[in-house]
Amino acid sequence: MRQMSTKNVLISGASIAGPALAFWLRRYGFEPTVVEKAPALRPGGQAIDVLGSATEVVRRMGLLEQVHARSTGKRGTSYVDAEGKARASISSEVFNGVGANGDTEIQRGDLAEVLYAATRENVEYLFGDSIAALHEDESGVHVTFEHSPARTFDLVIGADGVHSHTRKLAFSPESEFLRHMGYYIAIFTTPNLLNLDHWELDHNTPGKIAGSYSARENTEAKAIFAWASGPLDYDYRDADAQRRILTETFADQGWEVPRLLAELPNAQDFYFDAMAQIRMDRWSKGRIALVGDAGYCASPLSGQGADLSLVGAYVLAGELAAAAGDHRVAFDRYETEMRPMVDACQTFAEGVGGWYAPNSKAMIAFRNLNVRLLPYLPWRGLIGGAPQKVARTIAVKDYRIGDPVA
Ligand SMILES: Cc1cc2nc3c(=O)[nH]c(=O)nc-3n(C[C@H](O)[C@H](O)[C@H](O)COP(=O)(O)OP(=O)(O)OC[C@H]3O[C@@H](n4cnc5c(N)ncnc54)[C@H](O)[C@@H]3O)c2cc1C
Repeated sequence: MRQMSTKNVLISGASIAGPALAFWLRRYGFEPTVVEKAPALRPGGQAIDVLGSATEVVRRMGLLEQVHARSTGKRGTSYVDAEGKARASISSEVFNGVGANGDTEIQRGDLAEVLYAATRENVEYLFGDSIAALHEDESGVHVTFEHSPARTFDLVIGADGVHSHTRKLAFSPESEFLRHMGYYIAIFTTPNLLNLDHWELDHNTPGKIAGSYSARENTEAKAIFAWASGPLDYDYRDADAQRRILTETFADQGWEVPRLLAELPNAQDFYFDAMAQIRMDRWSKGRIALVGDAGYCASPLSGQGADLSLVGAYVLAGELAAAAGDHRVAFDRYETEMRPMVDACQTFAEGVGGWYAPNSKAMIAFRNLNVRLLPYLPWRGLIGGAPQKVARTIAVKDYRIGDPVA
């Protein structure tokens, strides 16, 4: 039996990357603890694609059936004018390959629930708490919490998203790594006001898009907004200020925008953020490492966040197990293994804002023309298959770890 020097791992953040990492660490004999700032698992968020290598990771977790059972089943998207007339439509299968090879689309909150349910029995979760301070020495990382008693862990992993608290504590301020991409995004749940049947409607004016798609078997819908903007000065903890920014930005818009915005005060799961990337040369420092958006956010909207989190968690845990817990070796291999996928996803994400919310009427018409023609183009696989291609940048290694660890 192999001896492991590292056993106790603290993970900060219980969304996608955190529970996925806890799942694999537990499988390999580590003892993960997950601390999450929110009092319970956070609901909400957009529908996200699980594609390529991420699908393979979910399959290896034995959770693919559960993920498919909660799939959005969204059939496609239409781009409509101010009167609601469809100017271009496209099926999800042509657009991003969802439906092929087990790839699927699922609400972010549903995926988080599946991962949490798969780990809650044998992983310690500390909800409503946060790391207050970290101090590393040869014996481990000494952690004080906002509420729980202080403890020492062998490793600490930040899975706490684009505004990672762990990154701020252990690396440098956010401004050093965050790259604003010129767009903002907001999303919240509404009733299915537009009677959509597994379908999305989007309305563009230059630099703005408002849309809605049905969710949970058409029993509800998501309202989604994105707009071109330089960095805004607001308090990211102040949701009322963010609601005001959204309402003011879309006050002049036609189509169904006023009806969608009228639901904003009732929404329990309002999400608002800049489209931004996290670019770092290294995702680890001593006994502390980052996974998912905390280390390499590709951006909201582009669809790669969940894929990078699922694959990153799998690789990080696998390399730790393969190195029998030697974090120096494992973190190096994790960086080498993940870097090509991170680079590919971040490069892909750069074009997404302009495609989604083109900046001029001419570009909107051009985008719609492309959407109409896409199913007939010989190179449709190149465009439609691009998200899948980047999601397959790295093959999923087989971390078959021989003996159980002790
Ligand atoms: C509620 C919510 C809604 C989202 N909606 C969208 C969306 O509409 N579109 C989109 O593209 N992406 C959205 N995202 C981001 C998306 O989930 C990620 O891009 C992707 O899934 C990668 O996940 P992650 O686990 O790395 O980070 P995230 O999903 O961002 O999760 C980070 C987790 O860390 C927790 N956390 C933050 N600070 C601390 C702290 N100090 N201590 C402990 N825990 C902390 C957060 O509460 C959260 O649960 C959303 C995330 C959340 C949490």
